[in-house]
Order: sequence, then C-alpha cells, then structure tokens
Amino acid sequence: MDTVDKLAPYDAALARRLGALYRQHGRTLSLVGGSVRDLILGQATHDLDFTTDATPEQTKLILAEADPTATYSIGEKFGTIGATFDDVVVEITTFRTERYQPGSRKPEVSYGTSLEEDLARRDFTINAMALDLTTNVLIDPFGGQRDLSARLIRAVGKPTERFAEDPLRLLRAVRFVAQLGFDLVPDTRAAIRESADLLRQVSRERILEEMSRLLVASHAARGLRLLSDLGLFAVFMPEIDELRSTTQGKRSKDVFEHTLRVIERTPPDLVLRWAALLHDVGKPRTFIETGGEIHFPGHELVGERLSAEILTRLRADADLIARTSRLAGMHMRANQYESEWTDGAVRRLMRDAGPDLERLLLLSTADVTSYRAAKIEAATNRVRRLRERIQHLEEQTRIEEIRSPLDGNDLMTIFGRGPGPWIKAVKEYLLDQVMEGKLAPDDRVAAEAMARRFVDDGLAA
Ligand code: ATP
Ligand code: MG
Repeated sequence: MDTVDKLAPYDAALARRLGALYRQHGRTLSLVGGSVRDLILGQATHDLDFTTDATPEQTKLILAEADPTATYSIGEKFGTIGATFDDVVVEITTFRTERYQPGSRKPEVSYGTSLEEDLARRDFTINAMALDLTTNVLIDPFGGQRDLSARLIRAVGKPTERFAEDPLRLLRAVRFVAQLGFDLVPDTRAAIRESADLLRQVSRERILEEMSRLLVASHAARGLRLLSDLGLFAVFMPEIDELRSTTQGKRSKDVFEHTLRVIERTPPDLVLRWAALLHDVGKPRTFIETGGEIHFPGHELVGERLSAEILTRLRADADLIARTSRLAGMHMRANQYESEWTDGAVRRLMRDAGPDLERLLLLSTADVTSYRAAKIEAATNRVRRLRERIQHLEEQTRIEEIRSPLDGNDLMTIFGRGPGPWIKAVKEYLLDQVMEGKLAPDDRVAAEAMARRFVDDGLAA
C-alpha cells in the first residue's frame, strides 16, 4: 500500500490523478505540511495542501485540464492557487522561501528552487514533510517521522530564530501539544519561554484563533498548563496566571488547577470551553478569608465582567463574548437548585440561559471537582433533577401552545350563532383533534370542515 492510500478514498484518487497530470507536464507535485502529518498519523485531514515546482500560471492550466468544472481562486497567500473538486478544497503553492531581515518581521517571500527549501521555512518537523506524488517518495529532511513516532514537537532549525521570525509559532507549538498530546523537545520548550514576550507583536485576532483551537483540543488542559508554565499567558491573559496564586483552602486545589479539571470534564464545545476557562476568573479579586474560611463573594459577577473584558480585548465576536460571559455570570445558579424551587424560578433560569441552557448544566456538573466522590455524586444528582424539571416544563409549555385553529369569534362567524356553551364544546373537540395529530394547529380550512361535521352531528348541543 502506498502512503497516499491512507487518505480518504476520494482524496487519494484525486491526489494520484493530480500527481500524474503534473508528471505529464514535466512538473512535480507533493502533498505537504499538515496534510502529510495527518496522513502518517492516520487522522482525517480537513484540507489538502500541495506544493509544486510549477508556476501558479502552469498550475491553473493543469487544474483546468484535471477538471474544467473545478472552481479556482488565487490565494491572498503568495503563489497559492486554491481549487475545489466536488467538496474537497485543495491548495497548491509554488515552492517558496522566506527570508527574514533582522528587525523586520515581514518576510521577503519569493519562489524557492527546491522542495527542501520550501520545507525548511516551515515551523515544526512534523509539519515539514512532503509526499512526492510523482515518485511516491516521502521527503523528510528534518526527522518529522521520527518525531511523530516519538510524539515530539520540535522547531525546524534554530528555535529562537524561528520564533523571532514569526512569534505566532509560540502559540502554534502549544496548540499542537494540545491537539496531539505530544511533548515539546527541551530546546524548543526553552526557546518558547525565552521568547514569550515576542507574542506581544502578534495580532489579537490571531492569538484568539489559536486559543480557540487549543481550547477545543483533546489535551486542552495540558496546553493551558504549558501556556502558563512558559510565560505565554502572562503576555496575553495575565488574569489566568492570577488563578495560580489563588488558594481555595488547605484541602482544595488552587483555582487554576480546579479550572483545568473543569476543562477536562467538559465536552469540546467552543463556548463551553471558553466559559470553563473563565468561569472563576473573578476569584482572585473577590478572595476573603474569615475565621480560617475562604470565600469569593460575588466572584461570578466579577467573572462575568472580566470574561467580557478579556474576550473583547482579544477581538472576539459579540456572540462569543455575550455567551461566555453570561455562562460565567450564571455558573453558580444551577448548583443551587433545590426541589422547592417554584416553576417560575426554574423558568427564569431557562430564560436567562437562553440557547446555552444545556451548556450551563454541563458546566455546573463539571464545576464540582471535589476529591470526595460523595460530593460529586450529590452535585451530579442535583443537576440531573434540575434537568428533569426543565424537560417537564418544556413539555408542558409545548402542550400549552397547542391551540384550536379556530377561536370563539371564528366559530361564531362561521355558524352565525351567538356565544354559548356550544363554543367550548367545538373548541375542545378541535383541540382534541390537534392533540391526536389529526388536525394541524394552523389548518383553518380542515378545522372548519371538522367543526361543521361536529355541529351537524348534533354533538355541540
Ligand atoms: P491545521 O490545519 O490543523 O491547523 P496545519 O499544520 O495544516 O494544521 P496550517 O495553518 O493549515 O496548519 O498550515 C499548513 C502548513 O503550513 C503547516 O503544516 C506548516 O508546514 C506551514 N505553516 C503554517 N503556519 C506556519 C507558520 N506560522 N510558520 C511556519 N510554517 C507554517
Ligand atoms: Mg491545514
């Protein structure tokens, strides 16, 4: 089996077909970067990235030959042609090199002369491999396969230089740790710590994008711990580092450790994970110790405000800001549930949480990270009872919304009769038909026909 067969069948066939075409044109085509990494890992890859010695103009001609119906775009990225074959997005980039002038972070980009040169500009060894589709050879000048099997993230070349060239790589390294569960090799790790401050030069939108991807990754907690350990949080979210120095009492974890546990106990949903990260961010500012006991009065409201502040600073969109901060603000409410709550109280919680009600329940369950199993069980049961109550109320609301398609006034007009008990009888009959599923709640025509039959049969008295 060729390595390319590890791709999904459609992708493999497409890659082979494109490879053959480039060869016919006397050019090379290689799958490159993340696509090769994912393929060797046996993971689904979401986009196919190729690199070639053909110029973008030649690539356009070759792609038109491959499939005249494919749609093309000239990437904003230098030398990249994007195309879509059915649903599969491919990007084909002419070999590139990037030269960084000391002091300037805008690289001077030009066409490269070899695949090796193209691979050398890439960030980590596991991302710097290519599979030549014209020869079926894996090109791996930096030991990417070795690092993949040893589960290591290692910068290509001299780490401090590579991070100075593009400090976004500081976050990318940690994001890959979070996604793959790999370790950083010592010199790459040391270089990140040393270069952490350079992250100030990276735009907040790019930081947010990496953070969001890290948060929904399988090993998110590990990534977050690294961001703190290596001094990256200190640069863009110092509020999280403060959690580390905030104790919750002798027998409890500090707020940071607790936060990581909560993250681990939530499903990988973007809003939920952001809320999990920020839910206790108000604790350092509300800490009080009285009579040997520690409390954080109103920390959820301070947290709500701080969450909004932090996400606004990172240029998050209004939806993410509103939903995350609302969950932070509400995160204590579900765990206070008692069966004595009135329906009104439960309904208020439902309305306040809006579309994130289920997330609030998941966050509340995850928030109890006690060492004591009995405590966790009690909290889980509490949320389960609340969820049942909510389901019951939702059902009731749906039933209450079921109405007869015709009201009393409609019936009086249709039958030319004045008010009286007959109206109630007809309406109840129609409502029954709706509940039985024999009449749609908005089908006035059918309702009228049914009502006439009912009255004609003398059933309305
Ligand atoms: P994913 O798509 O899952 O984020 P990826 O590795 O494919 O992972 P992309 O951002 O799609 O990441 O980039 C594709 C490839 O381009 C990478 O695998 C890497 O080789 C290279 N690359 C991307 N960003 C950088 C960067 N900042 N510095 C150096 N090389 C980079
Ligand atoms: Mg990619």
